[in-house]
Parts: sequence; C-alpha cells; structure tokens
Amino acid sequence: MRLVFASNNAHKLDEVRAIMPSGVQVLSLHEIGFEQEIDETGTTLEENSKLKAQAVAAFINDGMMIDGVFADDTGLEIEALGGKPGVYTARWAGEPAANRKKALAELADKDNRKAQFRTVITLIKDGKTIQVSGIVRGRIATEEYGQGGFGYDPLFIPEGYDKTFGELPAELKNNISHRARALHELVKII
Ligand code: IMP
Repeated sequence: MRLVFASNNAHKLDEVRAIMPSGVQVLSLHEIGFEQEIDETGTTLEENSKLKAQAVAAFINDGMMIDGVFADDTGLEIEALGGKPGVYTARWAGEPAANRKKALAELADKDNRKAQFRTVITLIKDGKTIQVSGIVRGRIATEEYGQGGFGYDPLFIPEGYDKTFGELPAELKNNISHRARALHELVKII
C-alpha cells in the first residue's frame, strides 16, 4: 500500500516511517512533487489535520498509483496554561528554540508542570475521511535536556520516565509517543 504523508517536517516523516509496518510505503510530499505551502487556518488540531490531508488529496491523480493520504497535526497541551499552546504549538513564539524558552518562562512560577502531546491524524482513502488520535501524558522539565527528537522534545518527560524525549532513545519515543499511538490507530483502519 502506498500512502502519502502530508508533512514537510523531516523529523515527523522519519518517525512515521520507523513506526509504520513494512507493508505500507510512506511517500513524502517531495516525492510526489507537492511544493505548495498549506495554511493552517483552523482553530483545532482536527481542522488543521484535515486541511493538510485535503490539500494533498486534491493534488493526487490516478497516475501516481497512490492509495491514500494522511496528515498529522500535533499540539502540546499544558495543564497550568489551560491547554495552551494547543493548536498554536508551532507558532507560539516562532521557531522551536524560542517556543521551548517560552514554555519554560510561562511555567517559571508554576508547580503544576503536567502536559500532554496530542496528535490528530486525518486519513483520506477510498473517498472517505477518517480521523484518529493519540495522546502521551507527561510533564515539562525545568530546563532543556538532550539533543534527540525535535520541537519540544528536550522539555517533555513522558509519564513513567525521568528523562525527556530529547534524552530517551528514538525507539522508545516511537513506541509510546502521541504520534505512535495515533499511527497504531491508523494501522487498524487501513
Ligand atoms: P505541527 O503538527 O507540524 O503543526 O507541529 C506543531 C508543533 O509541535 C511544532 O512546533 C512541532 O515542533 C511540535 N511537535 C510536533 N510533534 C512533536 C513531537 O513529537 N515532539 C516535540 N515537538 C513536537
């Protein structure tokens, strides 16, 4: 089965390829020649995930021999901030280092450091649009630890561990992460 992953994020693509079973070939946007920017104008992860999948599905034609398209939209939801940054996770302060700095600054005077990553995946296949999601709960560290992963990973300590996703092996993140959990739900329906 050939599915397009509607993301330009190389880290996400690596994770998705590592998690998906070998019978599923995951194509990148670059591989199908999709060069457009997709505006994430939605106000929920569900809307933005769908917008991305729809934009790429509209680009695909029969000659590409593609079975479907899926897109991932992910948010970091921090309990003490009422679920922020949520759908604005990517644009909170601008780029990843500034975003991490902002998370630390906003939590500087807070004891409650509970947070979760939530991923919503939209699949468009056989004329149907289906959404699945995955959550990993954890907490925000008091400073950055580790060089692994991407985005907020050096700050996020998953429940049951005492190290951040930036320190833990990629294989472990790919077993327990929000994205892994959403992808396992996706695999059940493809
Ligand atoms: P989007 O889903 O591409 O809109 O990404 C939302 C934001 O969450 C970006 O700032 C990413 O860097 C961040 N992000 C998405 N997935 C992860 C992850 O697995 N770990 C850490 N940060 C992530």
